[in-house]
Amino acid sequence: MTKGGCLCGAVRFVVKEFNSAIFKCHCSKCRKAFGGASSAAAMVREVDFDWLKAGERVREYQCESGFKRRFCPDCGSILPQFLTDYRLHWVPMGLLDSDPGIRLKQHIHVSSKAAWEVLDPDVRQYSGGFDS
Ligand SMILES: [Zn+2]
Ligand SMILES: [Zn+2]
Repeated sequence: MTKGGCLCGAVRFVVKEFNSAIFKCHCSKCRKAFGGASSAAAMVREVDFDWLKAGERVREYQCESGFKRRFCPDCGSILPQFLTDYRLHWVPMGLLDSDPGIRLKQHIHVSSKAAWEVLDPDVRQYSGGFDS
């Protein structure tokens, strides 16, 4: 079990078990949303995720692509998002309080990565999403 939350602590959640390894997405939208080189996240099944605090206060921004980004209304931290099509929660790793036990396995959307970013050659790279 791994707990996590936003920067100010208003929003908290718990993950019982992760359903994937960690992947870093280098698409332009993740870079904007995270303000960094990429997003680091993993997937969690519906039954393995619960909001502990203020889940109902979470705000949502819908990108033009239709992908939604949730964030804390108080501190602006990006928050876990439920992917309706896959019935999975997309959980940003930086929100976790402790080591989730899973490791980085994939870089995705590497074709749009920042020019200045240096990738670990031991981690598998995909130019697009998982399937490309
Ligand atoms: Zn917050
Ligand atoms: Zn992305």
